[in-house]
Amino acid sequence: MSRHEAYLNKAREIASLSHFRIRMGAVVVRQHRVIGTGNNVLKSHPMMHKPGNFFRCIHAEIAACLNAPRDGLAGSLVYVARILKNGNAALAKPCEVCDDLMARFMVRRAYYTVDNTTFGEVRYGQGFPRLI
Ligand SMILES: [Zn+2]
Repeated sequence: MSRHEAYLNKAREIASLSHFRIRMGAVVVRQHRVIGTGNNVLKSHPMMHKPGNFFRCIHAEIAACLNAPRDGLAGSLVYVARILKNGNAALAKPCEVCDDLMARFMVRRAYYTVDNTTFGEVRYGQGFPRLI
């Protein structure tokens, strides 16, 4: 198992704690250490109040970033997983709002589950915020 898969498995464990119908979990990793975890929660946060975000909740990847030390986010990796009712992994590609926030947090890359055996990658740069 690659280290990416190991962290995605951790994100899947966290997703299983979510009370949503769509269960998402995320972990923030920096220098091979998990520095933040989160699942999607039904709580509004000013950062999620952007046009296009109709979910009125904090997405797992952002919850994980907010749980991590703020100065630890630069250059970090975020792993996002979604699990279905039967425990199988499903597509967890970060939405545009989360992409935007993670780029601002200077997250380097996000890895997300596609299904049980596949994962995808989003590159935000080398720890520099994308120009928006
Ligand atoms: Zn999102």
